[in-house]
Amino acid sequence: MSLIVQKFGGSSVADEDKMRHVAQRIVETRRAGHQVVAVVSAMGKTTNNLLNMARDLAKDPSRRELDMLLACGERISMSLLSMAIQELGEDCISLTGPQSGIRTTDNHFNARITDVKAGRVERELERGRIVVVAGYQGMNSRGEVTTLGRGGSDTTAVAVAAGVNADRCEIYSDVDGVYTADPRIVETARPMPEISYVEMTELAHHGASVLNPRAVEYAWRRDVEVRARCTFNDAPGTIIHEREAGDEAKVLGVACHKELIWVSLRGKDRVAGLGDKVLKAIEKNDIFVDDTGDDGERRDMLIATEDIANLDIFADGLRDQFDDRISVSTDLGSVSAVGLHTGEDPDILRKAEAALERAGVGVRISFTREHSLTCLVEAAQVGDAMRALHAVFLEDAKQAREVA
Ligand code: ADP
Ligand code: ASP
Ligand code: MG
Repeated sequence: MSLIVQKFGGSSVADEDKMRHVAQRIVETRRAGHQVVAVVSAMGKTTNNLLNMARDLAKDPSRRELDMLLACGERISMSLLSMAIQELGEDCISLTGPQSGIRTTDNHFNARITDVKAGRVERELERGRIVVVAGYQGMNSRGEVTTLGRGGSDTTAVAVAAGVNADRCEIYSDVDGVYTADPRIVETARPMPEISYVEMTELAHHGASVLNPRAVEYAWRRDVEVRARCTFNDAPGTIIHEREAGDEAKVLGVACHKELIWVSLRGKDRVAGLGDKVLKAIEKNDIFVDDTGDDGERRDMLIATEDIANLDIFADGLRDQFDDRISVSTDLGSVSAVGLHTGEDPDILRKAEAALERAGVGVRISFTREHSLTCLVEAAQVGDAMRALHAVFLEDAKQAREVA
């Protein structure tokens, strides 16, 4: 008998029929002789709808109250899913994040999991029950409910899998695993059978929303092998694990942020005097910042907007605090080519910039990290930029292989 953690995202439980289908899938796993912990997200667009209601009622809603509100989305799903499983004749119990022993940092809205006290979940499993855990939430040291940042149910699944020492951790969504690009944007994208933790972390940080970057980092740290699969078919999906790396720089996927904030500092005095203060002001809410670091003359920071409770207030707050000594731009998106050592190879950057130019996409600025390169473009051109990068790095190679 194996112990399997299965996570089902919002699109997998978007309506009652889908909820029944998920219940059936979980029950089949149980009846094949396995113990199952199911982690579930809020139904469909629930989290966005709740956030919009909060923003209609309050200009800058308190983060504590936002967490009280947003945690409810997953709680609706957990109880409905548990009922649907019980209806199929299996013993099942739903538990909130705090009941499941998920402990987090104090930060509301973007908390991180610090520990999973899995005793309660384990006891329920020993009683022969299927356990349904509400994703995306936990409890901080003050006993307050916290949420884990957008897409955070993936992290719940990985942390619970590590906490109960599961044999398998499967993350189900509406796609057949991790593709070479978001298949909704690039029609020719194809699923990958496997990917390493380091590459997946990079891809997720650059916007491949199929897996949450913190979830991948957690899995990497705790050596949890993750399989990304589709709820609606039996395709094998993608295994995310440790794997041997070659030395050759090679793009394996492209990703984008449709919207981000670009903060830039120019000139020796500003970079030296302000750089770390700006970074601190951004990071104080545990927001992920892609920071180019200080090269003496310039420093740039990219911030994914989904991490921010209120975009305008955040951007204005930075502008007020640092006035015209920094520039804060909000109308941009990014495209990134990801693969081991790609950022260290100037030919790859040149090839990317040339492909974007041919596609009529203007590049505002480019950045490299060890395993990625990123170009900032107008938000409206992100789709064209993705297709251009995918074509140049991932389609020619495929065609070449097919011809060979
Ligand atoms: P869930 O609601 O199940 O958590 P998400 O919407 O967070 O699902 O993630 C699945 C979506 O991720 C897909 O529908 C797809 O549009 C998007 N996506 C972005 N990049 C990729 C990629 N590289 N591979 C697969 N899907 C991707
Ligand atoms: N419901 C949350 C969100 O929409 C968490 C998740 O789905 O993982 O971001
Ligand atoms: Mg998700």
